[in-house]
Amino acid sequence: MSISQNKKIILYIIIAFAFSFATRLIWVNDFKDTEQFKFNNEFMINTNDGYIWAEGARDILAGSHQENDLSPVDSAASILTAIIVKILPFQFETIIFYMPAFLGSLLVIPLILIGQSIQKAEVGFIAALIASIANSYYNRTMVGYYDTDMLNIVLPTILLWSLIWAIRTKEDKYILFMALDIVAYRLWYPQSYSLEFAFFGLIGLYVIYQYFKKEDFRFNFALLTFMMFAMMGLDGIYRVAIVLILFGFMKFKNELFIKYLKYIFLLSLVLFFVAGGFDLIWNQLKAYVFKDAVSVTGDDLKLHFYTVAQTVREAGQISFTTFSERISGHTITFLASLIGYIWLSIRFPIMLLGLPLVGLGFLALFGGLRFTVYAVPVMGLGIGFLIVEFSRMITDGVFSNGNKIAQTIVGILLTISVLVPNINHVKEYKVPTVFSKDEVVVLDKLKSIATREDYVVGWWDYGYPIRYYADVKTLSDGGKHSGEVNFPTSFALTNPQDVAAKMIRLDVEYTEKKFALKENEIDKNRTNIASMTLNNGFKDTNDFLLALSGDIKMLPKTRDVYLFLPNNMLNIYPTVKLFSNLDLMSGMMGKNPFFYKTSEFSETAEFIELGNGVRLSKKDASMQVGQNSIKLKRFVKTEYISKEKLNVNVQNVAYDGELNVIYMSNYHQFLVVDEDTYNSTYFQLFVLEQYDDTLFEPTILTPLLKIYKMKI
Ligand code: MN
Repeated sequence: MSISQNKKIILYIIIAFAFSFATRLIWVNDFKDTEQFKFNNEFMINTNDGYIWAEGARDILAGSHQENDLSPVDSAASILTAIIVKILPFQFETIIFYMPAFLGSLLVIPLILIGQSIQKAEVGFIAALIASIANSYYNRTMVGYYDTDMLNIVLPTILLWSLIWAIRTKEDKYILFMALDIVAYRLWYPQSYSLEFAFFGLIGLYVIYQYFKKEDFRFNFALLTFMMFAMMGLDGIYRVAIVLILFGFMKFKNELFIKYLKYIFLLSLVLFFVAGGFDLIWNQLKAYVFKDAVSVTGDDLKLHFYTVAQTVREAGQISFTTFSERISGHTITFLASLIGYIWLSIRFPIMLLGLPLVGLGFLALFGGLRFTVYAVPVMGLGIGFLIVEFSRMITDGVFSNGNKIAQTIVGILLTISVLVPNINHVKEYKVPTVFSKDEVVVLDKLKSIATREDYVVGWWDYGYPIRYYADVKTLSDGGKHSGEVNFPTSFALTNPQDVAAKMIRLDVEYTEKKFALKENEIDKNRTNIASMTLNNGFKDTNDFLLALSGDIKMLPKTRDVYLFLPNNMLNIYPTVKLFSNLDLMSGMMGKNPFFYKTSEFSETAEFIELGNGVRLSKKDASMQVGQNSIKLKRFVKTEYISKEKLNVNVQNVAYDGELNVIYMSNYHQFLVVDEDTYNSTYFQLFVLEQYDDTLFEPTILTPLLKIYKMKI
């Protein structure tokens, strides 16, 4: 590579990186005056899951955290964040907000280097411009999208780059890059396993091909051996050590290394199986295949739980248009990229190494849209190649001697036309922050009220942000929300206050007690609800749940517990209910609650029209729901008479009525709910503030978020 060539590559990298980063500032500019998106003078992040890494980084910087508080202080994302915070002179919030934009933009480097490997740096440059802002890649690396996604595509693209360079140049150093990148990728994202394995399989096939063609396959065989050692199920530090020792062996005793390569490879395979490498694949497969609605758990008391996979609706069919747009910004661009990639692979068969990424991306057609992002870099190379070749062919045809300037202009115009739909997507993609400032102010206040050992109980979606802002413990979060974990919280939020309070107290104390138990102690492997049932002398959980309204054996209270009740939960109330709306003994689902919420309504002389065929007759106060007429039990109006004082006016309409209408005047919304929902702890405490003062006391009550402390 000549000096000027090097300079060109560096220039391309700088331009592409600046382009990628600057495009991400469009969001910042759009919301610069939105104060509700900011806290502590900086934008908040826009992904729930990001708060877990933020919690870990905060605790690393603080130097301590509480036992069993689930803070991920050992995670690569938290450690990297803490290091960056230490080094750079910016505040914590600024760093986590901009980190994805910065790290995500690093994708341009391996792409440009891959272009360089086939002596076509322009191909890599165009690929870098497009891939760095392609819809799905942008969505997962935009400012505030602080999650492992920020390196999840960069690291395998570096892997692709090092494999291409290794196989093309047969230089040892690329083997080392490759092995270290695999270790880093796994540390960063443990689920990376299947992709690494696909790369391994592809190169394995190539080695077999070379073997039968009687070609010299020793270098690639060594490459495979290093891959296997880098991939096995040992701690990263051991794998780095093995890789370094082996690399030294290869470097300095090459003849001996080649002689024993067969055996070293066999050893790597044996170690792979012994270290449980196969279990990793098996577990991933199981997670994909077994997705029942209800799962059965327990040895002595078999209970049925609702599984969360049913409500996380990222999976599922997506249309071809959505699929193409997420990968390339436009269907035509996607098809052109595909043609370009096929052409590129015919001209440079080494580019077939991109297949694992393409394949994983194309899984999106069956497995849901979260996969599309993997195809982005390789499809970028496809369109980059097509544009470069196409503009050369056009200008070769028009100007017989191949006018360089004309070729460049055509190339630039084509690149811009491919970028436009992606930039339009960036402009339209106005994602809000997870919480608004008003909500975070409450959590921040709670931080000074609650201690770090106290529990704040809310639905699992809010777990990570609660822990980050209030520095407390939670029962569930973005990583801990199986059916058995969600059951007690769901039960408490959707049942009356007395049983709710007992259930939460029991769940908190059993959760803490379980942490302390040894593996062989009986309650360790039971779900909390199974322990509660059996320890209270019941064999049937339904009997225990009934007994909960009477005298029940409680565990001693070890800490304070707060309830986290946001207005936003009104949007997911029916989902929350699902997790406890089943018979745990039989798995039979219960009847869905009647729950209707609307903010679009109008009033006529006879009716209050609530939309979707729901209306309230003013004449006889009956509800009409579609064709049915249902008796109204209560009409409730809530209204803030001062900033913090909620006035609740309840009109009892009919004793035997079945539905309740609640008009939350300041929220401009109507709720129509059945009697069970009306009496639920969430409704009584959040919507109506009718708390039982022997069980709960208000801690912080605001229109968007209410916190109560449990008295029992
Ligand atoms: Mn903590």
